[in-house]
Amino acid sequence: MEAILDRFLRYARIDTQSDPNSDSTPSTEKQWVLAKMLFEELKNIGLQDVTLDDRGYIMATLPSNIEKEVPTIGFVSHYDTSPDFTATGVNPRIIENYDGKDILLNEEENIVLSPDYFEDLLLYKGQTLIVTDGTTLLGADDKAGVTEIVSAMEHLLAHPEIKHGRIRIGFTPDEEIGRGAHHFDVKSFGASWAYTVDGSQIGELEYENFNAAMAKITARGKSVHPGLAKNKMINAIGIITDLASRLPKNEVPEKTSDREGFFHVYKLEGSIELATMELIIRDHDKSLFEKRKQLLKDLVEAINKERPGEVVLEMKDQYYNMKEKVEPVYHIVEIAEEAMKSLGIQPIIKPIRGGTDGSQLSYMGLPCPNIFAGGHNFHGKYEYVPLESMEKAVEVIVKICELTAKKF
Ligand SMILES: [Zn+2]
Repeated sequence: MEAILDRFLRYARIDTQSDPNSDSTPSTEKQWVLAKMLFEELKNIGLQDVTLDDRGYIMATLPSNIEKEVPTIGFVSHYDTSPDFTATGVNPRIIENYDGKDILLNEEENIVLSPDYFEDLLLYKGQTLIVTDGTTLLGADDKAGVTEIVSAMEHLLAHPEIKHGRIRIGFTPDEEIGRGAHHFDVKSFGASWAYTVDGSQIGELEYENFNAAMAKITARGKSVHPGLAKNKMINAIGIITDLASRLPKNEVPEKTSDREGFFHVYKLEGSIELATMELIIRDHDKSLFEKRKQLLKDLVEAINKERPGEVVLEMKDQYYNMKEKVEPVYHIVEIAEEAMKSLGIQPIIKPIRGGTDGSQLSYMGLPCPNIFAGGHNFHGKYEYVPLESMEKAVEVIVKICELTAKKF
C-alpha cells in the first residue's frame, strides 16, 4: 500500500487547474493527466467496474463482502484545483512535528504562514503539516479528498475482515468552476447516498448550504455634452449606483455569518450610456431566499418608475440548500457523525456558506453531505493540510462503510 503522504504528494504535483472561461469538459486539457493516472491506479489497486468517461468523470466499485443486502453508498471528490491561484509547479514541503511558530514558506519573497493570522495552525502543534513553497496553491482542495478515498478503498481491500456493502467512488473535474456535478451520471453511479470528501478542518460534517442565485442588472442611459446636459443626460452610472445603494447595507458577506444571508455585489462597470452590476444572492432559508430575489425585482421596478432610463434585471438560480434532500434521510448524517465519534473526532456540524457538488447531487437524486478532507486556507499560497487529518479522514471513510453494513 502506498503511504498516504506519498500518494497525496504525487497528485498534488500535477497541475489540474480548471478554467471558468472554457466551455469544454474538463475545462482544461491538463486535467486529463491526473484523470488517466487515477483511472489506471484504481484498476491496479483492485477496484472493479473502473470507468473514465469522455468528460473526465471517474467511477469505480468496491464490491460488497457480505451476504446480506446493504444499501450501496458512495464517496465523491474532485481532482481539479481552483482557478483563483496558480497550480503550476506545485512543490509541497513537509513540516514535521510542527512547533506552533511561524513557517517561512518562501524566503526570497518573505511569505510566512503564521498562527498569528491563521490561528487554526495551533490545532496541529506536534503534527506533520504539508505546506506550499509560497508560489502556488497546494491543491489539498481536493486532492486530499481524492487521496483519502483511494487510500480507504485500498485499506478495505487489504482488510477483508472489515465487512461492508457495495461501495462506489466518483472523481469529478471542474468542481471549482461550479460544474463538478453537471455531468455526473447519478444513475450509473447507483448509490443510495454518498459523501463528498471536500470539507476543511478535521471533524467537519455539513449537510446545509446556501440557496444561491446570480443576477445581472443593466442600466441604459443617454450621453449628452455635460455643459448642455440639464434635463437631457441620463447617466447609467448614476442609475446603477443608486440601485446598489438601496440594497440592505448590513446584509453583505463581510457583515454576516452562520445562517445569515446576503447580497454580494462583486462587479460594477459603466459609462454614461451603459452600466452593469453583477451580484449574487445567498440564503440558507428558502423563503428568505425568495424574499431577497423579490426585493431585487422590486428595487429595479421602483427605479424604473422613478427615474428616466431603462433598467433590466436578469436573474437565475444556481443551486439550493441540500438540507431539504438530506433531512428525510437523516441517518446518513448520523452514520458519519457516529463514525467520527467512534474514532475520537468531535464532529463539527455547521452550515456551509457556499455550495458543494453534493448540493447539486442531492437535487439530482443522490443525497450527499460533505465530510472533512483536512486542508485549510484553500485556493491560495497559504493552503496547508495536516497529515494526521488525512489519516483520520481515511479512517472515517472506512468506518462509514463498516457502520452502514452493521445498521442495515
Ligand atoms: Zn473542493
